[in-house]
Amino acid sequence: MSIAQNLKTIKESLPEHVKLVAISKTKSIEQIMEAYNAGQRIFGENKVQEMEQKYPELPKDIEWHMVGHLQRNKVKDLAPFVSMIHAVDSLRLLNRIDREAGRNKRIINCLLQIKIAEEESKFGLDPEEAVELLKSKEVQKLKNIHIAGLMGMATFTDDENQISQEFEVLKNLYDSLKDEYNFTTLSMGMSGDYELAIKKGSTMVRVGSAIFGEREY
Ligand SMILES: *Cc1c(COP(=O)(O)O)cnc(C)c1O
Repeated sequence: MSIAQNLKTIKESLPEHVKLVAISKTKSIEQIMEAYNAGQRIFGENKVQEMEQKYPELPKDIEWHMVGHLQRNKVKDLAPFVSMIHAVDSLRLLNRIDREAGRNKRIINCLLQIKIAEEESKFGLDPEEAVELLKSKEVQKLKNIHIAGLMGMATFTDDENQISQEFEVLKNLYDSLKDEYNFTTLSMGMSGDYELAIKKGSTMVRVGSAIFGEREY
């Protein structure tokens, strides 16, 4: 199947309120253009350097999302153009994003990454830490970021029950905060589990290999 066909099939299966982020990491400009020409406008990368290299080569109406773990010293490289940063997990990172967004006279959308997987290696905040962060005066005074919602990654497993439970934890937290903080975005679901994620209330799925094919490193 071609990229355009994959994209079409996936888009047709998505409810109206769910946004699709095409994860284009390791994929070429030509492959991204194939998705672009098929109508896709939101693309996500997980490495700053790769996004920075692709950005100038591609049309300017693309909305770029950083979905990977982001180091503070790299924020300045993305701040001029990045639309949303999905994996924010500390006040120090939020502060830096705010500062660099301000320098570029921009507002950058952020999602707080919540730790829902059982794996130790996954980044993210515990639910209590996320609530504390949202409530803090320091965060509330930041003018150049907009915290639009939450993001999470389920455990890498075949056990659908487990994945389902983890998504449910995230959805419950999202619902408990949504009204108070005007959340619009719950980013959960990847190629292997986006259908389940949507059933569990996702509003934004991050799909790579199901669009572009398996990645070769
Ligand atoms: C790579 C990646 C994805 C997409 O993974 P696929 O399984 O190829 O769909 C989604 N989210 C993050 C954070 C990623 O790094």
